[in-house]
Amino acid sequence: MSTKTGIAILGSTGSIGTQALEVIESHPNYFDLQVITAGKNADLLIEQAKKYHPNSVLISDEKSYQKVKDALWGEHIHVYCGEEALCQVVESKEVHTVLTALVGYAGLKPTIHAIDAGKTIALANKETLVVAGEFITKLAKEKGVNIYPVDSEHSAIFQCLVGEFHNPIEKIYLTASGGPFRGFSVADLKNVTLEQALKHPNWSMGAKITIDSASLMNKGLEVIEAKWLFNLKPEQIDVIVHPQSIVHSLIQFQDGSMKAQMGLPDMKLPIQYALSYPNRLPTNFPRFNFLDYPQLTFEAPDRKVFKNLDLAYRVMDELGTSACALNAANEIAVEAFLNEKISFLEIGQLNESVVNASKNILNPTYTDYVSSDKKAREKAVELIGK
Ligand code: NAD
Ligand code: MG
Repeated sequence: MSTKTGIAILGSTGSIGTQALEVIESHPNYFDLQVITAGKNADLLIEQAKKYHPNSVLISDEKSYQKVKDALWGEHIHVYCGEEALCQVVESKEVHTVLTALVGYAGLKPTIHAIDAGKTIALANKETLVVAGEFITKLAKEKGVNIYPVDSEHSAIFQCLVGEFHNPIEKIYLTASGGPFRGFSVADLKNVTLEQALKHPNWSMGAKITIDSASLMNKGLEVIEAKWLFNLKPEQIDVIVHPQSIVHSLIQFQDGSMKAQMGLPDMKLPIQYALSYPNRLPTNFPRFNFLDYPQLTFEAPDRKVFKNLDLAYRVMDELGTSACALNAANEIAVEAFLNEKISFLEIGQLNESVVNASKNILNPTYTDYVSSDKKAREKAVELIGK
């Protein structure tokens, strides 16, 4: 068996997935690409398969299966399709680490299968922990599985924790860029366009997370993600707006000392660290120059304008399936906004209405999450229709 780390990338055609492939390509003696998967983008998946030669590829969209299979004929690559197979490919014995880089609730089920199979998880798909953090962290503990964060803020906290595992965290500060609408009033937000919302000041990312960043829902989801990753109480998690995105997050310890992780904003670094932990591998990423950033600034988020942040704290307090309902509402709301069916401000309104209308089930089982997700989606669609 190879001494290299066998990697499966779920969502290889997305923003995180394509950057992960670059990371793997630059360390051929360290990583062994086993599996790549995509939702619908068959053309890019085929191109990636021909270039990187993984053992298996999977396309979720069953209609594209034949196309992928035909294109890879003779390449000695297994080709699969569909949701069931997505749960099975992560279980392959050649796979050591599963990078969950697909977007949204669709990440939950394959992540559960990967944990069940004892795979190390490099978690980009934050929605998995938002929806089912209680369930996932318990399962990972039972199976002795490590979950390493890819999200830059959580990677920052994780990096600051090295050597500190016996020292309790007093508090963490998740930094937020503030997004394209930082400083806007509710009146200003009334007429913002899709194009404006899709222009993130510091990061180039998939459409869903870019809209979540503009509405501060992303930071709300990250607060919940941090609670589960680092076992924190809500009052131990704070958010600070830092428009330059150089300080990726901070920890405060019991003696008042603070540690931060810094660097130019580049997702390849946290992706690589999650795949190579505890080692740091050399990179040629551009280095930070202090003189390019004479001022690093910090300000409070505007919680009155960006209501999604407090809504996230609320569902985090409520536990149970409340955060699952919020996530479902938000996925429907963002999709409707991307299709220009609702306005930007309606995203937050819809989220709040759906959470208010949802029944919170405490100590949820997997089926409780499934039904809560389904009901919240139905409610969101119904409210958009009105
Ligand atoms: P993206 O939209 O660019 O890519 C998503 C990938 O998932 C694609 O490969 C797509 O084909 C696949 N996919 C989408 N829906 C699917 C489905 N229903 N079933 C199977 N596959 C599906 O998204 P992204 O920006 O790369 O984000 C991926 C995840 O990483 C998200 O959870 C996001 O919050 C998180 N994240 C992203 C960034 C970033 O810089 N992009 C930073 C931090 C965290
Ligand atoms: Mg982040």
